[in-house]
Order: sequence, then C-alpha cells, then structure tokens
Amino acid sequence: VAELGTPTRSVITTCAYCGVGCSFKAEMNGDRLVRMTPYRHGKANRGHSCVKGRFAYGYANHQDRILSPMIRDRIDQPWREVGWDEALRFAAERMRAIQQDHGRKSIGVITSSRCTNEETYLVQKLARAVFGNNNTDTCARVCHSPTGYGLGQTFGTSAGTQDFDSVENADVMVVIGANPTDAHPVFASRMKKRLREGARLIVIDPRRIDLVKSPHVHAAHHLPLKPGTNVAVISAMAHVIVTEDLYDEAFIRARCDWDEFQSYAEFIRDPRHSPEATALLTGVNAAELRRAARLYATGGNAAIYYGLGVTEHSQGSTAVMGIANLAMLTGNIGRPGVGVNPLRGQNNVQGSCDMGSFPHELPGYRHVKHPEVRAIFEAEWGVAIDPEPGLRIPNMLDAAAAGSFRGLYCQGEDILQSDPDTKHVAAALAAMDCVIVHDLFLNETANYAHVFLPGSTFLEKEGTFTNAERRINRVRKVMAPRNGYADWQVTQLLANAMGAGWTYTHPTQIMDEIARTTPSFAGVSYERLEEQGSVQWPCNEAQPDGTPLMHVDAFVGGKGRFIITEYVATDERTGPRFPLLLTTGRILSQYNVGAQTRRTENMVWHDEDLLEIHPHDAEQRGIHDGDWVKLASRAGETSLRARITDRVSPGVVYTTFHHPDTQANVVTTDYSDWATNCPEYKVTAVQVSPSNGP
Ligand code: SF4
Repeated sequence: VAELGTPTRSVITTCAYCGVGCSFKAEMNGDRLVRMTPYRHGKANRGHSCVKGRFAYGYANHQDRILSPMIRDRIDQPWREVGWDEALRFAAERMRAIQQDHGRKSIGVITSSRCTNEETYLVQKLARAVFGNNNTDTCARVCHSPTGYGLGQTFGTSAGTQDFDSVENADVMVVIGANPTDAHPVFASRMKKRLREGARLIVIDPRRIDLVKSPHVHAAHHLPLKPGTNVAVISAMAHVIVTEDLYDEAFIRARCDWDEFQSYAEFIRDPRHSPEATALLTGVNAAELRRAARLYATGGNAAIYYGLGVTEHSQGSTAVMGIANLAMLTGNIGRPGVGVNPLRGQNNVQGSCDMGSFPHELPGYRHVKHPEVRAIFEAEWGVAIDPEPGLRIPNMLDAAAAGSFRGLYCQGEDILQSDPDTKHVAAALAAMDCVIVHDLFLNETANYAHVFLPGSTFLEKEGTFTNAERRINRVRKVMAPRNGYADWQVTQLLANAMGAGWTYTHPTQIMDEIARTTPSFAGVSYERLEEQGSVQWPCNEAQPDGTPLMHVDAFVGGKGRFIITEYVATDERTGPRFPLLLTTGRILSQYNVGAQTRRTENMVWHDEDLLEIHPHDAEQRGIHDGDWVKLASRAGETSLRARITDRVSPGVVYTTFHHPDTQANVVTTDYSDWATNCPEYKVTAVQVSPSNGP
C-alpha cells in the first residue's frame, strides 16, 4: 500500500476464483489497484475472504499477459504479432473455409466458467447463430455436468437447492467428495461455525480432509470409502433408511411420485445394498455406515454438500441421483437447513451452465429439440437454430482426431492441461486447421493454436457471475482492459468478422436479452442488481426478489422422482502392474491449473504438487518423505515428490493438479460418466516407485 499510495476511490466487484462468489471492494489510487478488501455487505461472504480472493489478483498485471493478437499458418511456425483486424479476419476466413470444405458442423466453441454470464451467453450464441450448429460446450463438462443431469432428472432443475445462509439451520451436515476448507474456504468457515454450535458432521471421502478433525471440529463419522464406490455407499445409507423405516412417508406421498418410490424402495431393500454386503467393496465399516445413515435420517435438519469427488466418476450422474434420493427419502428438501448443495468449483460454472453452454440446451436448461424454445431465440436472433444437439468436448476431440471436426474457438480454458488423457487432447488439437485460443496467457493449449486473441481479467470488465447458491453478483470494471477489449467485445468482433452484425455496446444489453429469452432470468436487470446488490434465480414475475430456497412447496419438475441407482464398478481396475488407486483434489493457495495463482507475486503460492502416500505403501516401496517418485498409470507417467501421511488409506494415493510441470492429467484415464461424459479424474490405477526426479 505504501508503494501504491492511499486509496482514493473504490469499486465493488466479485472474486473470480471459486463458486462462493465473495464480494470485494477494489480500492484504487487513480487507475492503480491498491488492495482488495472483502466487502462487508457482500451477501455470500459478509466481509470475509480467503487468501486467493484477497491477495491473488496480481496476475492482471503479470508480465506473462499477452496483450496483442498473434497468428501463424501452422503450429510449428513462430507467432506473428498483428493488429486486431488482421487477427480476426484471419480467424474468420479460416473458420468459414473449414465450413465450406467440411460442412457447417465441423467447427465449434468452448465457453469459460471464469468469464461472465454475458460473455458466455455470447459464445454459445456465436455457435448457434453464426456457426449454425450446437457445437458448444463448457468446462462444466469436466466438473459438474453430472449435477446438471442428476438434479434435472430427480428435482426437475439443475441447481443447488439452498442459499448459503441455510447452513445456519443445519443440524446435520453430510460432506461427500468435497474439501471445503481448501476449495470453498469462506463457506467452510460458516460450516465450521455451525459445527462449533453443535451441528453434527458426516464426511464421506477417501481422504481424511481437514473437516474430519481440526481444532474445535470433529466429524461424528468419517467413511473413508475406496475411490469409485460412492454409489454403493449412498445406496447402503438409503438401504438402512428404508429397511429401518426411517423414511418420511408423509413427505414422499405429498411431494414425490409414489409409484416410483415404491419401485425404488423394493430395489434398495435388497440385501445386496446393505452396509454389511457392501463393506468389502467400499472399504467402509458397516456399523459406522449404519450409524451415519441413522444420524442423517433422524438428526433434524440435514443438508448434503458435495463436490467433484462425487461427479468426476464413471457413475457421477448416478451418485448425484442417489444423493437426491437420500434427501427425498428423509424429507430434507424445501426448508432452511436442508437440501442438496453442489459446491461449484469455479466462480461462474453455475452461470456458464445457466447460459446454454451445453450442446443440447439453450439458456435456461431447455432442450434444443423443442420447437417452441428454439422459436424464442430464432425470433430474437433472426436465424434458424439447428434442432440437433451438438458435440460435447470429448466428442469434439474424438471427431478432430478422426478428421471431421477442424476448427475451435476456445475462450478462457486450457483444455490441454485440464482435460484427461493429455496425449489424446494434443493429437486432436494438432489435427485441427484452426484453433483460436482466447486467453490471458499463452497456455498449454496455445501450443496448438493458429490464432491467439488476448483476454481480459475480471478487473477489466462489466458483467455478472452466478455463484453456487444461484446468486447473480455484479462484476464491475476496475481498470481499462490492458489488451484493449473485454472478452464480450472480442467475441462480438469475431462474430461480426464472420458476418453477424451484432451491435452490443454494454453488457447490460446482453443481460436484457437474456432476461427476454430465459424465464428464470426474466426479472434480472442491472437496475435490480444495483438496488438489491445481488439476486438468486429464479427471478421473475412470480419471484421478483429472487429465490433463496428451491422446491419449497413443490419440486420445479412437479413431483420429485426416485431413480434406481444400480452400482456399476468402474472399468478402471487395479492389478499387479498398477496396484494403487490415485484420486485428486486442490489446495487452499492454488486454483485449478494455477494459470492465475501461479502468477501472483507472493511466495505463498509457490507450492508444488505432492503425492500423498500412506506410510505402509511408502515403506513397501522404499520411499521417504520428500523423495522424488514416478507416478505411472496405463495412460502415462509423471514425476513428483512424495508426502508420507495417514490422511490417505493404504492402497490410495492423492495429488493436486495445479502445476504444469506435474501434469497430473498425463496419468488420468479416458473413462467418463455414462450420462454426461464427465471424465473420471478421481479413480486411476497407478504404481508409485522411487525416481531421480523429472
Ligand atoms: Fe474468492 Fe472463493 Fe476465496 Fe471467496 S472463498 S475469496 S470466492 S476464492
């Protein structure tokens, strides 16, 4: 602060890291950002923040930022810096040429969960209204797409059911496949406060996360399941609830499809779902699981919080539906302190899904096959919309490797580092004729790009982010875009270079268009956001001030639907060559692949990815704490240092994926969720052996 001077003005904006969506005061001296102060009126954070939001904004001014567009004919040539006009003309001509030679559906887009709602809306509109296809997907594909499917099937809509305040009424919390103290720190503090007040906690996770035992917080039950067995554990809990008559019949009769419940009850009563029958498979002590199920069903208001440890599995969607079944069985829906709460990893992953980034859904989760839905957008956009769903990211990559998909506009997403099976992604990108990377930095994907369009940070634009509780928060411009244009402007320039004729002059016009076309956003406007500070969708004529709690009197889909959730083991198996199971997660000081946090001038961030291994497994292999080890799977191998700890069980190892040197996804498999293709990052059979380093 001393160097930058005393702040003379401030701008209220929203953190661009995790799905908590903390509000900050950006304090400025002239056009220099002096500091970020947590905003005490922010409804998601009430004056609190974590280290990322408070200190990790320095990447906006980092020397690695690319500020001028660049092009090259082939990826083995050096980049050539050019002006915006030339870069956009080059990109548009290549994309058009691909469509002429290979058909309308040979190109597509990937939207970013770090960009604003308005920017994401424009990118999917680019695919649908300008490219003329539904080849649009989002990085939610690799994280919470099973949430979209699972909650849509059971509750009728894809969103967390509660607001964050609801935690203050929870008597029991179940945390499944999530590590809130590292990944959602501000909300974790609220959970801990409630636990200190007497709420009980059940943790279902292969690893002993901090919440299991930390100062003043002890979980009542920790079920350290074998990676890949979520569905079996969830079904065993449901088995206990049904066979011990702990279910809420009045709620089920009033709110759910009774016939479907009866079929489900018959299925789940089968002794093969009992804790005792599944103990060997899951590794979870049967008596402990029974006690946990009883506590969830009878302990008062019970809320489930889950993360990517649920979704990133070959049965991710099944597990989400199993969680919804548990909530419906026990009537834990529709009032404060209960519900099903996906903890969203990225600042705007909820928003990117809401905005129609998926290849089968227009904004507001409406399938492209419905003519009455297409008609709304056709009237607004003045073009016909393809009724056929487009390609998901893995389908785009497969089609690229096969030669039929040849052009990609990728905004704010480093798919080479973040998607599974790095070799396959690289081969697919290398096979394309035009890869347009729109980003802050020359990321790993840009190694395969023909066009680089400089991106803008959250400090350089107007817009909105939607957090994990469906809260739409304003993002306000703190400084002028260093690259010249906010990301929504770049997308508009690209669309217009391809002949679109878009005329947006401010993101508020884009939000007005979203409100005209999307019923759950019908009442959202920048004016309302100024008045209220933020608003939770649905916000429309029926709910003008927004909706903190979903499904209060009835499910959005009418009746709640019990879905049969048969456990099917993943095809990824351990064996003599690969006897250990690898699972992955995050640490507090880093964010995803680290593109932003690694570029912050603070030594706190300079961590490395470590491999956690149980003392027994380490001793068997002659590995000491801090040794370099080789981590090998059927897909590939990498090197990192070992950390010996009993946080993980024997037979399980764990690492993070924040550093490009490690490239943890070199070893992950290409198995994916049966319903959504979300990659199975959380289960990989591996071997660990001593090594001399990379
Ligand atoms: Fe940002 Fe999440 Fe930290 Fe809040 S908890 S400051 S939103 S990273």
